Amino acid sequence: MIDMGFFINGKELMGENSSKVFNPADGSVVGTVALGDERIVDKAVRAAKNAFECWWSFSAAKRGDILYSCADAVKSSVDELSQLLTSEQGKPIKEAKMEVFRFAHTLEHYAGMAKSLRGGSVPNLDHNPARMGLILKRPLGVCGAITPWNFPLSLAGNKLGPGLIAGNTFVLKPASTTPLTVLRVASIMFEAGLPAGVLNIVCGPGGTVGDRLATHPDIAKIGFTGSTPVGKGVMSKAASTVKRVTLELGGSDPFIVMSDADVDKAVSACSVGRFFNCGQACLAVKRVFIDEPIYEEFKEKIVEKVKKITVGSGFDTSNRMGPLHTEGQRAEVEDQFNDAVNKGAKILIGGKRPSGDTYDKGNYLMPTVLEDCSFDSKMNTEEVFGPALPLWKVSGMDEAISKANDSPFGLGSSVWTKDVNSAMKAAEKIESGYTWVNSISKIYDELPFGGMKESGLGAEHGYEALEHYMATKSVVMGTE
Ligand code: NAP
Repeated sequence: MIDMGFFINGKELMGENSSKVFNPADGSVVGTVALGDERIVDKAVRAAKNAFECWWSFSAAKRGDILYSCADAVKSSVDELSQLLTSEQGKPIKEAKMEVFRFAHTLEHYAGMAKSLRGGSVPNLDHNPARMGLILKRPLGVCGAITPWNFPLSLAGNKLGPGLIAGNTFVLKPASTTPLTVLRVASIMFEAGLPAGVLNIVCGPGGTVGDRLATHPDIAKIGFTGSTPVGKGVMSKAASTVKRVTLELGGSDPFIVMSDADVDKAVSACSVGRFFNCGQACLAVKRVFIDEPIYEEFKEKIVEKVKKITVGSGFDTSNRMGPLHTEGQRAEVEDQFNDAVNKGAKILIGGKRPSGDTYDKGNYLMPTVLEDCSFDSKMNTEEVFGPALPLWKVSGMDEAISKANDSPFGLGSSVWTKDVNSAMKAAEKIESGYTWVNSISKIYDELPFGGMKESGLGAEHGYEALEHYMATKSVVMGTE
């Protein structure tokens, strides 16, 4: 059992109240975490504000060196961190290790950009050689980060990497059900040389701790990842102090397979893209549109593939899919199955909880494939955050694009075809922040990622993420 407090100004502080963190695989208690409130957030913001001048005064190169040390220390702790992550989140240990490395690689990516941070200049303003315009890039100040439970570490890294290298300091609020790994990472980063107060962590309910971050007058920006409804609320609260916001929200990604595609490769990718992290990923295969001539072949092959997915505790390395994160999450996906079936859908495989002693105490659900889902069922109209794969038949790329775009979301998309023209047309027309052609949802640090429509605002990754953590300021220098 692990008991953790807040991480403020380089120290762990215990709180008056705490809450339990449960293991989704068997309901056991992994540990407890201190519960914050407005007062604790204010304390953490003061620590971040005090640390800002010092952190910003370092050269970007020095900040980069510190982030490299932090990344090394995190990688050296991969066994401890991945076990903690699997215990509190439920994902297979292999995926937990990948997430720990992902976090470290994002820090390294931005550490590597440190020496390229620069502004610009414009000579001869007013045709006067003694008047020069300077464009300065400076950090914003104290930033708030609010993260969800599905990738508690890598989604924190997406904010900390660009934000810290740009010279900002942070108060981070993790999801209430997955606070432990990121708290441990904060102390590892501190031990590796991150100065006190640069990264502070306050756990506690979104409506209290998250709300205070969104409205706090000394916070310049909120980097939020989570659901669309909560993101909308954060955006409107941040408006009260005209904070910047980056919102990485929900998605319902289409996966389009044309008749000239390599069906076997598409089937494998579809299975990984849907059932990774038990289907609880923002970028995931959530709606499959298959060209009519290959519909039956694709259907048979995906059902065969899904049959082989082993379900169980993330600590057993033979299991490919763990439990859903909470009982509530499982109930929501079951409601979405039931809604689809009530509206005429057929379940081809799965659709139920696995039975047996090993599963009784966990939030397990079998990987599921459905067909004939009505377009007004929740399988199409809502984000399905669990192991459910609905298949639809389409006639050609135009119909597939039109169905793909018939959604309030616009996060990712994947298109399978050997026809380059058709692929380019889909990449241009599909309303999503990312399109993968003949591959699936892999995120690259080099490429910006941000949703269209109700999937988000702004970008993470790439140089673009840095821009979201810097203010641009113009200076006119008169030299006489
Ligand atoms: P969520 O319910 O929106 O929660 C996300 C975070 O917001 C949590 O830390 C939560 O705290 C906090 N929060 C809740 N209410 C708040 C409020 N009133 N003010 C400020 N913060 C508040 O999302 P989730 O269920 O954890 O995560 C799943 C969602 O995240 C899915 O929709 C998924 O698609 C999306 N997601 C998007 C991306 C992306 O990059 N686009 C990546 C991953 C996940 P508590 O835990 O205390 O409630």
